Amino acid sequence: MNILILGSGGREHAFTLKLSESSKVNQLFVAPGNAGTSKIATNILIDPTDFKAVKQTVLEKDIKMVVVGPEAPLVNGVHDFFLVDNELKNIPVIGPKKDGALLEGSKDFSKQFMQKHGVPTAKYKSFTKANLEEGFAFLETLEPPFVLKADGLAAGKGVLILNSLQEAKEELEEMVSNQKFGEASSTVVIEEFLKGIELSVFVLTDGKNYKILPSAKDYKRIGEGDTGLNTGGMGAISPVPFADEAFLNKVEELVVKPTISGLQKDGIDYRGFIFIGLMNDNGNPSVVEYNVRMGDPETEVVLPRIDSDLFELFDGVANQNLDTKSFSVTPKTATTVMLVSGGYPESYEKNKEITGLENVTESTVFHAGTTTKDGKVVSAGGRVMAVTSFGDTIEEALKKSYASIDKISFDKMNYRKDIGFDLV
Ligand code: ATP
Repeated sequence: MNILILGSGGREHAFTLKLSESSKVNQLFVAPGNAGTSKIATNILIDPTDFKAVKQTVLEKDIKMVVVGPEAPLVNGVHDFFLVDNELKNIPVIGPKKDGALLEGSKDFSKQFMQKHGVPTAKYKSFTKANLEEGFAFLETLEPPFVLKADGLAAGKGVLILNSLQEAKEELEEMVSNQKFGEASSTVVIEEFLKGIELSVFVLTDGKNYKILPSAKDYKRIGEGDTGLNTGGMGAISPVPFADEAFLNKVEELVVKPTISGLQKDGIDYRGFIFIGLMNDNGNPSVVEYNVRMGDPETEVVLPRIDSDLFELFDGVANQNLDTKSFSVTPKTATTVMLVSGGYPESYEKNKEITGLENVTESTVFHAGTTTKDGKVVSAGGRVMAVTSFGDTIEEALKKSYASIDKISFDKMNYRKDIGFDLV
């Protein structure tokens, strides 16, 4: 079977590599892909939100399954587009339709969903320009820090955590009245601040059955000791030592089961991944957010730990028989460290030649912002590549990732030297 993967990050490289290991998979195509995916698949240089171009590729390349990496095509309705097109409607799309993608596309929707189905989450209310005064009054009932979230997608920047009430009121007004984050902040969710340690749990579902994938913790800040600006993610570790069996059982009972049954009750036929951002407060889970796709760089530690055939799991999602598919995970620890362009997440230079990749033997390098130019691999984005390793312990896996990184170089290469620092 030929498969098309939409996206261009380390996550999509990890999907491509894992699918390439399946005997059922014939040719793999990635749109638009990167230098890493071009070595094991065919890159198609189209925008994954250009659904007409996606259709043309599917027909030309005889694609029989589409796997969606990032949220944008899902929130824009790529799955719905397939279902209403006579030539595409029988081709399964791994990723929810627009109705399910709202779990990520609208924070107001996802909070309502959690409340309705009894999923533990922070107390909240939503406000617009029309009830701004009520928003001020609600803020006065909360203890600092104050959490303000733009309802819509804001490229990970739409969440403000503020210590002063005055500042929170000013920012609320900026968001709803002056559209600080554009249309995305015309509605703002204000919620209680949750204490605890964050981690992510991933679920693959066919709408009825589910598999809980390995948990992971990512490192979002650019600076060591979790300081500085937020990034797309600087590294990740799986499994998460503080997510023990008792905690994960609570996550399954209190979060995963009501989420899947809630989707069914609401008539949302959800086929794909659910990324559940959680706070672990003294062993009790509370949901911070849902995303409707896998995380990046979490995928680069989660997928390598799955021993089962990923194609078979996707086939189970497509045919709604995921319960019949075998699923096993290696107990080993996986770590990944992201190499980024100097200056990222602010301005940075691209087009830097990356050398030494052929000397890496103990780790898997997942490409993100890379491309091929004159036969050479060059940087093409802020997050350039993720270096993933296995070990019996976090320390052992990290040692391998850092030893591999010593063999790779590009001008102004930067990375965090303390991934996992809080866990060892
Ligand atoms: P992401 O880039 O993770 O997708 P997002 O814009 O979708 O971010 P959230 O995940 O809801 O937004 O929030 C971003 C971060 O802000 C969280 O990862 C968490 O660290 C923090 N945060 C959000 N809500 C709360 C809360 N209620 N209490 C404490 N921290 C919170």
